[in-house]
Amino acid sequence: MSTLANASRYESMLFKRCGTSGLLLPRVSLGLWHNFGGVDARTNARELLLGAFDLGVTHFDLANNYGPPPGSAEETLGQVLRGDLSPYRDELIISTKAGYDMWQGPYGNFGSRKYLLASLDQSLKRLGLEYVDIFYHHRPDPDTPLEETMGALQQAVKSGKALYVGISNYNAEQTRQASAILRGLQVPCLVHQPSYSMFNRWVEAELLQTLQQEGLGCVVFSPLAQGLLTSRYLNDIPTDSRAAKPSAFLNPTDITAGKLSQIRSLNQLATARGQTLAQLALAWVLRQPAVTSALIGASRLSQVRDCVGCLKNLDLSAEELQSIDTIVSA
Ligand code: NDP
Repeated sequence: MSTLANASRYESMLFKRCGTSGLLLPRVSLGLWHNFGGVDARTNARELLLGAFDLGVTHFDLANNYGPPPGSAEETLGQVLRGDLSPYRDELIISTKAGYDMWQGPYGNFGSRKYLLASLDQSLKRLGLEYVDIFYHHRPDPDTPLEETMGALQQAVKSGKALYVGISNYNAEQTRQASAILRGLQVPCLVHQPSYSMFNRWVEAELLQTLQQEGLGCVVFSPLAQGLLTSRYLNDIPTDSRAAKPSAFLNPTDITAGKLSQIRSLNQLATARGQTLAQLALAWVLRQPAVTSALIGASRLSQVRDCVGCLKNLDLSAEELQSIDTIVSA
């Protein structure tokens, strides 16, 4: 069964070219790392996906291991793609990745040709797709020759199982090398996916400039610092929040008194601009010319709506930027 999408879905979304490619990506994309696994409510996952698409969010980001259990986020999206979203495949950019632990034994992680191509086949089955739009290598592999990993990405494109390829979590030098190898293989690297937020600025030192020099786009993950840069933790740690759930990535101990004071000051600045803190945090990453899209996560549709609302005011004055720097370095 399919659902008729909102006829005005492209009226407020903004799109930006991904590097020097022909591909336009929405300025806000939705990731399925959390809240789309086999343990999560399918009805909520479906509402998030359909609601995001209705807002013009045409890009959904996955990885082989998203769940839990690993692989189940791809199955969740696959079910919605076979159902409600089946008429809209050509309006969607679906990405997946391989690089972290996925199955037992020596061929289930990192960057070998064996792992990447087997994983892509598995992802396509779970998604019920003939091809993904973007296939990423999820993290650098210190022990596999980069030529082998990039050769596997080239093979993914040549076999028609991916339209574009990308890399994630590579540093600037690794990015230059990967980009040069792929260029030599006649399959340009489309995009890099690094972490970036007001609280995590490592990409500013070298990577963003490298991406522009190499012509790669940049889809930044965790732009809300997993929810810290939102109204979520202003007063307490809600029981249904990511920090309250068992996680190796965000815990109550991460919300220190110092962090909370920064978050509250940033929230005041956002309010003065007529924005929510999430909207300010997204405008802040999107201000970088190198950044194509901010890749958010969400546990409910109202959060996606709020995030997409950032597009109404992406301008930041020099004074505002200075205030943000002062707050986060305090
Ligand atoms: P964010 O920094 O956007 O954090 C998302 C969380 O913030 C949500 O789950 C929600 O928390 C909260 N939130 C979002 N919007 C709002 C709002 N408007 N108001 C209040 N709270 C809000 O991103 P993620 O860390 O989830 O990462 C996003 C995506 O990036 C992933 O799904 C994945 O696709 C990708 N990623 C890639 C990685 C890589 O190695 N390449 C690594 C990590 C992520 P709550 O759940 O508490 O409601």
